[in-house]
Formats: sequence, structure tokens, C-alpha cells
Amino acid sequence: MNQIAAGEVIERPASVVKELVENAIDAGSTKISVELGVGGLDLVRVRDDGCGIPEGQLPLALAAHATSKVAEAADLDRIATLGFRGEAIASIASVARVRIRSRVAGSDAAFEIACEGGDESPIKPAAHPVGTTVEVRTLFFNTPARRKFVRTPNTEKARCMDWVRDLALAHPGIGFAVSHDGKPILDLPPNQTAGDRAVAVLGPELAPELLEVSVDRFDDARGILIWGLVGRPAIARPTAKAQHVFLNGRAVRDKTIQHAIREAYRGLIEPGRHPTALLMIEMAPDAVDVNVHPAKLEVRFRDQSMVHGAVTRGVRDALQRADLTRPVADTQLGAGRASTPRPPLELDFGPGTPQQHRLSADGRASAQAFAEHVRALRDEAERAVRPVVTAEELAPVVSDNSVLIENRSSASSGLSGSSFGSSSGASGEIEATPEASLPPAGSRSRFTQIHDSYIVVEDEQGMLIIDQHALHERVMFETLSARLGLGFENGSKSLESQRFLTPATADVEPEVLAGLDGVASLLARLGIEAAALGPRSLGVHAFPTLLIERKVEPGAFVSELLAKAHSEPLPPNEEAALHEVLDMMSCKAAVKAGDRLSEGEIEALLAQRHLVERSAACPHGRPTSVRVSLTQLERLFERR
Ligand code: ADP
Ligand code: MG
Repeated sequence: MNQIAAGEVIERPASVVKELVENAIDAGSTKISVELGVGGLDLVRVRDDGCGIPEGQLPLALAAHATSKVAEAADLDRIATLGFRGEAIASIASVARVRIRSRVAGSDAAFEIACEGGDESPIKPAAHPVGTTVEVRTLFFNTPARRKFVRTPNTEKARCMDWVRDLALAHPGIGFAVSHDGKPILDLPPNQTAGDRAVAVLGPELAPELLEVSVDRFDDARGILIWGLVGRPAIARPTAKAQHVFLNGRAVRDKTIQHAIREAYRGLIEPGRHPTALLMIEMAPDAVDVNVHPAKLEVRFRDQSMVHGAVTRGVRDALQRADLTRPVADTQLGAGRASTPRPPLELDFGPGTPQQHRLSADGRASAQAFAEHVRALRDEAERAVRPVVTAEELAPVVSDNSVLIENRSSASSGLSGSSFGSSSGASGEIEATPEASLPPAGSRSRFTQIHDSYIVVEDEQGMLIIDQHALHERVMFETLSARLGLGFENGSKSLESQRFLTPATADVEPEVLAGLDGVASLLARLGIEAAALGPRSLGVHAFPTLLIERKVEPGAFVSELLAKAHSEPLPPNEEAALHEVLDMMSCKAAVKAGDRLSEGEIEALLAQRHLVERSAACPHGRPTSVRVSLTQLERLFERR
């Protein structure tokens, strides 16, 4: 193993916090306190109630490459996985003033050792309860050049807290208390369940917005186990800071997983926003290549597509299980009564579930150890209580009078549903509903279309008001992306298209037309064949069957696509670019507000509502439907 030059791993106070807290965790502590002074630059003091360091080993703790944690030097896998290198304290001691006080269980004496810029003091008796306190003062006092890379105390403090939070999430059984300049800033009790800990760290106010993810794919030693919480689309953020991913108990940063999460939210949040997610992933260590990185662990999965698929499916399942239909908030209905209080979040996954390190607890994870681990987790999962989350008080979506919205022109673009629902299943538009997909006879819900724009449906909980365009757009989007094989492993299909005897044409500005080459491969994937017929004339020779059936005008569509790509380049990633074009296609192909629908068409659309995934949001993240519950109706009419 390469020797890393002393001090190299210590970049800033947060690195000190990470190393010391990890040591305290390794020592089997139940409570860890972290005191920071001036962003950790003046002071990082970590106190634990762990096993302590025997007097004779105090000098060793300060020596480079002296770790008590590796039984055999050959056990490199484990060293790499858990980051034992036996040099963290030595590195810190070379760039700061370090004092360690410790007492081991069963001993009535405590001892201390100090070190300043590499000079060790002799061991002295000290006063200290069982456990260890490591104190690091004036970081970089002897390396002023390094201080230059350090930011303001506030930034450094925030980075320290990022680490504490990650470590606390991974170890819900351990209590954590943090103070900064004498003021308490975090207090997490010991023995929390993983769910309680997650909520405490992510913010209790988010509890109702969190959905449980649970994947248990296990096949010999090649399994994956995922437990976590993901946020409803409404709480997506502009940065990925609210994403915490752990692999076998350690915080990791991994593009595959980030992409898989984004994929699961496709169509539910606007591009550029990031879902809140906490995922604990467990895999046999030999399924992962770990690159020891002083900061966050970077990993490489032996089977990336398996991990990607499992994460996407797990998160998607969680989103699908949840009813994302937005309820109308009582205040929006003008009922002056207070809304029912939200039931408390119940997340109980057993103490410390999922227990980290179990896979590697005996040093080497055998298939057998993994199997046992999975069984234990399964047992816990069986005892687990599902989170009780309500969708109450989601962002306001309708105002009192929005149901009385003006009827928009019924002459909108001649797309009214003449071909709607009448064509064969292969066409992929709203298909004549197969009998099997309808709710059982008798439970068929009653509905009506109002203002040729909304469909009002009775359901078990009250009534739904559906925006016909938004829902159909969603159906189209899902149909199109399924046909393109998006979101599936190895998925790369093209849309079925039809060739024209004479091309459909459109007038296009020469500079816009020049962008045709740039989108050639994208168009090919979509089944579109287009070429310049002249300096400002575009010809479309083939066009997707589905869009032709929905009467989308080929020339206008392609020229609009070119204009869009001209004003704002499409994302370089093909999937992301397709996503944008599909948004555009679905919008064009969907019924419009103002299109009168026949009863059969409405039925077909409603049947599709249950077939498409997550039908409560259209691709732009707007809702497709809102619900007014019976209780709300009763309140409105003062029946309760
Ligand atoms: P590593 O953690 O990689 O072994 P460190 O430099 O972080 O190396 O720590 C060196 C050694 O000091 C550890 O192996 C452990 O024996 C001891 N040690 C450090 N901190 C603690 C602690 N809080 N409690 C008990 N032992 C500790
Ligand atoms: Mg260590």
C-alpha cells in the first residue's frame, strides 16, 4: 500500500472531524461529542465513551502506520473498504497540536499524551472517564501555506457538519452532540432507528414528504440491499446536497447511483432540480472496487447496470406506491376550519437498521455472511412499520375558482379526439381499453367532462379533478419513452415511423436549418428523416406513426425542434436530449384543453391513468390531478 505523505490527507478541519469521529465509532462508542472552535480551525475536540487506548499504546496511536485495526497485513480488501490506514492521527499531529486523553474499561487510571509538530511529550497521568478525547488545536499552525486553502470559519464549519451528518446517518445507534464556539448545534440521541435518525438529520419538517425505499435483491453473493428515504417531488432542491448515499456503511459519491436516482424521478421534477434522497446500500464487498480516497469514498461497481437498475426501480417503486395526487388544501377551499393535524411519522425499522458493517464484521464477507446478513435485515423489515405519510399541505395547486376556469377556444389546432381511442393497440395512442385493465365491474367510477378541459371523477376518497391535457401528455410521454426503451437497462430502440411519398415541408431560417446535422442522430432515433430541400426549406421524409395518428404536423414539429435547439442547445447526453424532445412531442400529441371528449375517450384516458406511472404529475412537474376528499366536502357544507 502506498505511503501517503504525512499531512496529505488533512486538507481542512472537516478531514480532522471525519478521522476522529471514525476512530470513535470504531472504538465502539455509544455517544460521541464534537466541539468545534472557529470552524474547527482553532479547535476540534472529539470525546467518546469507547474502548479507550491502553497507556502503552498511546505513542503508537500517534505513529504513522500503526493501526490496531488490522489483524493481518494481507487483509487489504478490508483495509481498503473501511479505510484503516493507521496514519490519520500521525498526519494530524504533523500539522497541529494534538492531545489524547484516554482510559480503558476496567482501569481506574487515565493517561494523556501530547504532540506538537511531530514532537511527542512523555505520557502523563490524567483525569478522564472510560473512553477517549482527542483534541486538535491550531490546525496548520506550522504550515501557513496550507491555511491559504482554508475558507471562512463558516464554510469550514459547514463542511465539518456535512461529515458529522453523514457519519450520524450511517450509525443511528450512536448518539452525537456537536457544539460550535460553545453553542450546541446538533444533538442526536443514541439508539435511534434508521428512520428516526434520517428524519432527525434531514429535518423533522420533511418527515411527511419522505417515502420509504426498500430493495432486497439477493441471489447468492451477488445481491444488493437498499433501504432509504426519498423525498416527494415537491421538495426537490436546486443542488444535490440533500442526497446521501452510503455503501456498506460509508458515505460514497457515485455517478451511477446519482444518475439512477435522477432516472427514477424522470418526469416528476424539472430537469436541473435534485431529489432529496437517503440511500443505504449493502453489497458484498467483493462486488465493489473501492478506491481509497481521503475524502468521500469513490467506488466502482463490478456490475454497474445491476446497481443502476436496482436503485432506479427501488426509488420508482417508492414513488409509485405513494399517492402523489395533490390534495386541495382546506384553506384553498375557503373552509375556515383548521385542517386535521398530520399524523406523526412512524418510521420504525428496528434499532440501527440497517446495521452497517455486518457484511464485513468478520473481516471478509463470505457469501454465507452475506446471506445471514440479508436474512437478518429481512426479519427486521418484516417487523418494520411502514411510514405513515400524508400528502396534506403540499404546495397549493388550485385556487378557489380554478374549477370555473374559462373555456379556452375549442378550435385548438384541430387535434380534437377524432382518432382518439379508436385505433389499434399498436398505434400506442390512448388505446381502446382492454377489458382486463379496467377496474372490476361495478366499481367503474362515474365521471364527467367540464368546460371541455377537465374531467371530474368520483373515487373512493372523494373526487378527482383531472387536467385532461396534462394527463394525456403524461400518457404520451410514458408511451413514447417505453417505446424508446428509456429508463431500462440496455434500452435503445427507435420509434416506429412512416415514410411519405412526398415530403412534408416547412420554411426555416437558414441559420436554424444549419442545425439539422447536429440533431441527425437524435432524429434517427425518433424515426424522423429530414433534409434541407433548399437554403430555407425543410423537408420531412419520415415521421413517427404515433405522432401522425395524433395529427402532429411533421414540418412544423421538426422546424420547431430545430428552432429550439438553435436558441438553446440540447443537452449533450443523448438520453437527456431525448427526454426534452419527448416532452415536446407529448405536449403536441396530447389532447388540448378545449377538446371535447367522448365518453369512450374519457374512459380510455382514465384507464390509462392507472396504467401510466406516477400519473399525478405531468412531465413538467405540474400536477395532472387534484383530489378533494369527502371529508373536505363535508366540511365545506358544514356537515362536520
Ligand atoms: P486507524 O484508524 O486507521 O487505525 P488512526 O491514526 O486513525 O489509524 O488511529 C491510530 C490508532 O489509534 C487506531 O488504530 C486505534 O488503535 C487508536 N485510536 C485512535 N482513536 C481512538 C479512539 N477514539 N478510541 C480508541 N482507540 C483509538
Ligand atoms: Mg482512523
